[in-house]
Amino acid sequence: MGAHADLYARHQAVMPSWIATYYDPPIELDRGEGRHVWDAEGNRYLDFFGGILTTMTAHALPEVTKAITEQAGKILHTSTVYLSRQMVELAEQIASVSGIPDARVFFTTSGTEANDAALLLATSYRRSNQVLAMRNSYHGRSFSAVSITGNSAWSATSLSPFQTFYVHGANSFRSPFKDLPKDDYIAACVADLREVLDQTAKNVACLIAEPIQGVGGFSVPPDGLYGAFKEVLDEHGILWISDEVQTGWGRTGENFWGWQAHAPEGVTPDIVTFAKGIGNGASIGGVIARAEVMNCLQANSLSTFGGSPITMAAGLANLKYLLDNDLPANSREVGGWLIEQLRAVGAELPVVADVRGKGLMIGVELVKPGTLDPAPGAANAALNAAREGGLLIGKGGLSGNVLRLAPPLSLTRAEAEEGLRILKHALTVANDAEDPLAGSSTNTAGASS
Ligand code: PMP
Repeated sequence: MGAHADLYARHQAVMPSWIATYYDPPIELDRGEGRHVWDAEGNRYLDFFGGILTTMTAHALPEVTKAITEQAGKILHTSTVYLSRQMVELAEQIASVSGIPDARVFFTTSGTEANDAALLLATSYRRSNQVLAMRNSYHGRSFSAVSITGNSAWSATSLSPFQTFYVHGANSFRSPFKDLPKDDYIAACVADLREVLDQTAKNVACLIAEPIQGVGGFSVPPDGLYGAFKEVLDEHGILWISDEVQTGWGRTGENFWGWQAHAPEGVTPDIVTFAKGIGNGASIGGVIARAEVMNCLQANSLSTFGGSPITMAAGLANLKYLLDNDLPANSREVGGWLIEQLRAVGAELPVVADVRGKGLMIGVELVKPGTLDPAPGAANAALNAAREGGLLIGKGGLSGNVLRLAPPLSLTRAEAEEGLRILKHALTVANDAEDPLAGSSTNTAGASS
């Protein structure tokens, strides 16, 4: 047994059975640089999944490494009982790019905790535990986060601190309203929301939504949907939480935050949650809310570990790099090109039903040819063929049949071309492999968040 296979056996012997990994055996990542990573056996991969979007700018970005090592040499103490210059500075910068008037920022260590904090805020502010969430949603895996996750594969328990109601609209590819023109689609979703509010949920605290669903398969609702929802929410005083864990920091290319595609000028979410990318791999999450909402809690902080000097130092260096190099514009340009190219590839392959996305957040939905039935086996075939070709990609969707592409935002055009070449081959393999009688030959459990 090789050292790597031995590690997998040890992993299985000591870690929970419910940790899902990609590939069989899984890849052990050893190092990264730019848009590439190397596994422990020395194989090099182009990374089109950015460590599930945690690597926002680039792997081993020297600016971030320097900030982390300098801070590590000074102090690692983490607490909110003392002042932290790094924490205040990053909070100031995030508040200034947030678009939220009178914004306050609180740091956590993960996106799940950020959503926990947002739900605590909204339910406390409104003194209600009724929550609206979107069908197919994903917001993390804590006790409260799984309670608003509209995908049973990610809900480890059906017990819940909330009374949750799911509404239509996020997945326009599989929505019952999918054949309607955009405005009618939005009107149908708004009517569905109104029906829930009028007939079922009388005292709702908040609506939580991902502007583009991540784990749900990079589903892109029509622009304006959540702005239309917000008008209805405002009639009832219900708060809008935008979960920007995957869509924040210019990932979608066209806007700095995903919610901006939905809201007209002057309209904003009441609470925004973020995580992943801002630390470039260091564990930062956080909540942004207008002061009135943020300050409604009677609490002595919500975390001692959120906002550690080391993650704040990483966040400051990473955000500076993102803005100095206008990576959102790069995401728009390189991502826009890639989407176009993939649409052309998909048009030739019956297994590809939909290529969608914004910027460097691209989903490719695979189906059994001639139907809309999900084809998770084809997605696995593509995932493995891409790996063999030297490309790491992700998957998602309710049936694990959507390929998810989310490279670091500094992806160059030449790297996009290299990735496209490998993807073309992987999709052809998936197309050829699609056979309703054939079972999956790979570790299908390995969907990832
Ligand atoms: N919200 C969304 C939209 C996510 O995609 C994720 C993670 N994939 C989370 C929340 C949870 O973040 P974390 O894994 O940092 O807890």
